[in-house]
Amino acid sequence: MVVKDLIKELRQAIGKNAVKTEKEDLESYTFDATPDMPTGLPDVVVIPESTDHVQAIVTLANKYNVPVYTRGSGTNLSGGTIPLKKGIVMVMLKMNKILEIDVENLTATSEPGVIIAELNAAVAEHGLMYPPDPGSVDTATMGGSVAECSGGLRGLKYGVTKHYVMGLEVVLANGKIMTCGGKTVKNVSGYDMVKLFVGSEGTLGIITKIISKLIPAPEARKTATATFTSIDDAAQTVSGIIKSKVIPATLEIMDNVTIKTVENFLHLGLPIDAEAILVIEVDGIPEVVEKEMDAVARVCKANNGNLKIAANAAERDGLLAARRAALPALAQLSPTTVLEDATVPRSKVPDMIRAIRAVAEKYNLTIGTFGHAGDGNLHPTIITDEANTDEMARVHKAVDEIFDAAIKLGGTLSGEHGIGIAKQKYLLNEFGESGIEALKAVKRALDPDNILNPGKVVTI
Ligand SMILES: Cc1cc2nc3c(=O)[nH]c(=O)nc-3n(C[C@H](O)[C@H](O)[C@H](O)COP(=O)(O)OP(=O)(O)OC[C@H]3O[C@@H](n4cnc5c(N)ncnc54)[C@H](O)[C@@H]3O)c2cc1C
Repeated sequence: MVVKDLIKELRQAIGKNAVKTEKEDLESYTFDATPDMPTGLPDVVVIPESTDHVQAIVTLANKYNVPVYTRGSGTNLSGGTIPLKKGIVMVMLKMNKILEIDVENLTATSEPGVIIAELNAAVAEHGLMYPPDPGSVDTATMGGSVAECSGGLRGLKYGVTKHYVMGLEVVLANGKIMTCGGKTVKNVSGYDMVKLFVGSEGTLGIITKIISKLIPAPEARKTATATFTSIDDAAQTVSGIIKSKVIPATLEIMDNVTIKTVENFLHLGLPIDAEAILVIEVDGIPEVVEKEMDAVARVCKANNGNLKIAANAAERDGLLAARRAALPALAQLSPTTVLEDATVPRSKVPDMIRAIRAVAEKYNLTIGTFGHAGDGNLHPTIITDEANTDEMARVHKAVDEIFDAAIKLGGTLSGEHGIGIAKQKYLLNEFGESGIEALKAVKRALDPDNILNPGKVVTI
């Protein structure tokens, strides 16, 4: 009865067509891109078109005391959008306008449903770039990537989403609207609320407008692959390049399992016998690019790597496509791919790779490892099948040990995929009890009735 009344009021507030209650509509939102997660059926799906709509939805959620699960494209990899406790799934894809590109202040203002690649295409017309570049750039939304603080392929040189969010409009859990930050480069008014909402995974507020920082697009770039017969050599090359004071825009690794799988998927002529390849891109002004690629070549040679520089834009696109295809390619090998993003200081990449290989051997599992090696952010990907209970038990133990290894090496549970449901049980290892209490205190302060994405990040 309560749900029926809620649905009636939602229809009155945002229009009949923006409120979905058919079984097939609800079922489409029981899961996201994360495997091996619980599912949950929402009571209703709503598709707002404005901040006013979002405000009306949250106000009704409070009135009926039901949760709101905000959703962009559902590509997150930590179970972040799953409606664990019924309630409202709010899909942001129709709030998809780029509101302004301000070339004087180097900012873009967009609604949360804008796809990241679309923002980048729009700013490219002005010779500008929005650097955050997750592998899912063609599907993921600005809102989802701000809420996850996505990283991606350019993190090493350019940083991650939190470095590019200057201002936000947010609908709070009580239905009120707040703005924070803005177009000024400097802003130290009050607490840094922008940073607090970035990466808050839909648990502290609903992002309805984003002011992003833009930078001039680099004049030139050079992209190369380096092929290795030893993964240790590849890992040493990663730290060697940085030690030689070159910070590539992209410094990605793929191990042999990943190389073979991607080659089988895309037929790009990748060296399937190689133990590892690095995809390296340097960018900037042409003279610096030349100099940096020369330095990269020297480090690769010193570590027995075979460097091949892309001769043209098509070859470059092929190399980056190969790296972007790593996850989809591994995913077609078996019904379930469990992908993690444990991250270590970059000097510990060789140790982390060794730890992952030892875990694969110990639990007799196939683990493909690829990722943002220059950031110390690896994606060990376990190829498995949820239906195989014996293997899944080993997978869970393997994941426990991978996170354990990352924390022991001075790293973190998540470089870019967030905590969601998937990593909550490990959070204590990273924060300790007093840290967890502080996280919960923040959640309680901003969402005392636990309306926003309950059951994610921390449980209060
Ligand atoms: C093939 C593939 C490759 C990927 N590569 C990368 C990568 O290289 N780097 C990386 O960092 N990630 C990567 N990801 C993960 C994922 O794409 C990113 O986390 C992405 O930014 C999520 O965007 P989304 O629109 O799909 O958000 P969703 O999955 O819909 O939502 C993610 C989280 O944000 C919250 N949320 C969504 N919109 C809002 C809003 N407006 N206000 C408040 N909260 C909101 C949701 O509640 C949820 O907690 C990859 C995923 C896939 C499937």
